[in-house]
Amino acid sequence: MLEVPDPVEYDDAIVFKPTDELGYLWYFPRTATEINVGLGFQMTEDPMQLVETLKQDITTRSEFKNATVKDKLGASLPTRRPYDSAVADGFLAVGDAAGHVNPTTGGGIPGAAKSAHWAASHAVDAITEGDVSESRLWEYNSDVMTSFGKRFAAVDLYNLWGTARNVDELVEIVSAVPGQQLADALSKGTSSMSLKLKLKTLVDTFGHWDALYELYKVSRRATEITQIYDAYPESSSAFEEWRIDRDELMEEFYELTGATRKYWSSPKTQTVSEIGPLSH
Ligand SMILES: Cc1cc2nc3c(=O)[nH]c(=O)nc-3n(C[C@H](O)[C@H](O)[C@H](O)COP(=O)(O)OP(=O)(O)OC[C@H]3O[C@@H](n4cnc5c(N)ncnc54)[C@H](O)[C@@H]3O)c2cc1C
Repeated sequence: MLEVPDPVEYDDAIVFKPTDELGYLWYFPRTATEINVGLGFQMTEDPMQLVETLKQDITTRSEFKNATVKDKLGASLPTRRPYDSAVADGFLAVGDAAGHVNPTTGGGIPGAAKSAHWAASHAVDAITEGDVSESRLWEYNSDVMTSFGKRFAAVDLYNLWGTARNVDELVEIVSAVPGQQLADALSKGTSSMSLKLKLKTLVDTFGHWDALYELYKVSRRATEITQIYDAYPESSSAFEEWRIDRDELMEEFYELTGATRKYWSSPKTQTVSEIGPLSH
């Protein structure tokens, strides 16, 4: 948190800048003189000097010349799709603990708030009925997966695609793609464009059509994966089958993009209850 002596001009905006390793740097004004400044990178990529990179950017900006550092914080976040199940006997996971974070932005507050609300509601019902088994709590998984869970699984594909490409090229594409469509793709997992806008985008992205065509194919997979998550099983008995469908789509996706594998599918996966008590 930086405090600046004079109000910044962008007090009603959020500012993002790309950094190496598919990370980003941000300036979020809380007020016109109190700015949340930060930087994130993906821990699957080569490590970055976070503080140095941030310092370098801050020193290029005149509004921060006489700024005072008010507070500092750092933490890690799960930038991945949600865990396939967040319940076990007598157990519900919410928020970061369940991977309820947008994998492209690291935004985890909405997922934490929504999942906590649903989890609390299911917990109250389960306790009232005297059944806190995994199968009784399973509906909570469906709540998550058929809402933001499917969107996060979809945007995760863009994240994976991005790690397979060069940052400069991504910046050029991102700068040419209309803002609203890009925001939709990154938050909802899908977006649409009018013909006129498509043509304009084609002109603006000249030189990147191969990448754009691949991106188009990624967007098709993103739509398909949301459909798979919409069909998340209503009980744990169909869980394995569902995972096989999803993993098949992921295999196609890795083949299509050449992206580094982020998840491994196992022939037989286990729910937490099947694994039994965890030991230290
Ligand atoms: C630098 C940074 C910037 C971010 N910016 C944004 C943003 O702009 N927008 C956004 O949407 N998200 C942002 N996030 C992500 C967001 O903060 C998290 O996704 C969100 O807070 C997760 O909420 P949570 O309740 O799951 O976990 P947390 O907020 O981490 O809460 C977990 C709590 O459990 C406590 N705890 C841990 N262990 C124990 C224990 N054994 N016993 C008792 N208590 C325990 C912790 O102290 C903590 O208070 C940011 C994260 C970071 C690190």
